[in-house]
Amino acid sequence: MNPSSQQPELKDRDRAHGWHPFTQMAAWDDPAFSPVVIERGEGVWLWDTEGRRYLDGNSSIWTNLHGHGHPAIVEAIARQARQLDHSSFLGYTHPRAIELAERLCGFFPAGTLERCFFSDNGSTAIEVALKLAIQYRQQNGEPERTGFASFANAYHGDTLGAASLGGVTTFFERFAAFGLQPERVRDLADLQRLDASQLTAVIIEPLIQGVNRMTPWPSGMLRELRAWCTQHDVFLILDEVMTGFGRTGTLFACQQEDILPDFLCLAKGLTGGTLPLAATLTTPRLYQGFLGGPDRTFYYGHSYCANPLGCAAALASLDLFEKEQTLEHLPAKIERLRQGRLALEARHPEVLATRQCGFMAGIDLALDGASFCRRLLGHGLLTRPIGDTVVLLPPLAIDLEELDFAFAALSSALTSPPPTAEVKALPDH
Ligand code: PLP
Repeated sequence: MNPSSQQPELKDRDRAHGWHPFTQMAAWDDPAFSPVVIERGEGVWLWDTEGRRYLDGNSSIWTNLHGHGHPAIVEAIARQARQLDHSSFLGYTHPRAIELAERLCGFFPAGTLERCFFSDNGSTAIEVALKLAIQYRQQNGEPERTGFASFANAYHGDTLGAASLGGVTTFFERFAAFGLQPERVRDLADLQRLDASQLTAVIIEPLIQGVNRMTPWPSGMLRELRAWCTQHDVFLILDEVMTGFGRTGTLFACQQEDILPDFLCLAKGLTGGTLPLAATLTTPRLYQGFLGGPDRTFYYGHSYCANPLGCAAALASLDLFEKEQTLEHLPAKIERLRQGRLALEARHPEVLATRQCGFMAGIDLALDGASFCRRLLGHGLLTRPIGDTVVLLPPLAIDLEELDFAFAALSSALTSPPPTAEVKALPDH
């Protein structure tokens, strides 16, 4: 069947039964709004059911690394599916999870992050760290240390515990009374005023707060935070859900300040952006604090923990870092991203400011972000704004020409007047 003939039908069927995340469905249901139905991906490109091609400017919500449909990952998943699609990790194990835990822990010195707990997504990677941090103190003689400190404007996911540590008012305020009650700090000075003896852990997105409109932390801050945590024996939870796997220019953000956390939370790019899988890495101290009788067991798990397909995809993605020298090729792309955003800033008065950390950029506009991103679609660039900040965070595998395409799209969308009958945009969060 011709794909375009399915178009109205698919959209109507979506409207009949779908409910989309971070989406006001009244606006979605408005007949003036026409949802884009993505049906194919290859490399950095996505195609909709009407045959229009878009550059994936936010790596499909910050997940994709090596491009869509990379044959090495597709083959690894297919091979794994033929062998073992899923089996429970509760009390059993399987080869791909064993290999992946070894590979992930192998990035860090022996005796540091040498334990790996698998779960499903960024939020659950955080939940695991939170629960481990609470339970460890309970059963190791410090039950009063139940507190968490988290940073203003942080984002750590949407499950109740992770959300309650977030600092974006729109997301956490409604549920604030029902989750953890963290000490919310703006900076290290605020943190130093807290009674550390009541804290079990501090959580931070290292180097950059993504959802806070791509705002980098001052250089050296992470190292100071590590020193403070060590001094007061407060666990440091690094949420590398967004920054992990090369986005900052190194495999992990923490490597840039040469520090190690007590918990490292990974998801999004772990499978190269193909399947939901997460890992929470932690130390021998934490692990040993859970050994003993049944009362010391970590009663946490999901049906799909360590799903073999996800593990196979993650192993293939890590192989690609080596085979395609993903990190080695990044500096030139990071520089092109810098030049491109500075040129936008210089040429277009509607661009108020731009920021960048590694291969991630935020572009603040004096325009409505949601409408602008809708307009961008017409220029072949797909991304999602945060308020009036456009996020440019393409797959690491993008080449310089494709990156130039993204900037040309931004530039022409900034210069072209909005179409008279502009397709209605969904309001952002
Ligand atoms: N932590 C950070 C820093 C994130 O950016 C996100 C998602 O954007 C999450 C946690 C939550 O991850 P997930 O959406 O996979 O639950």
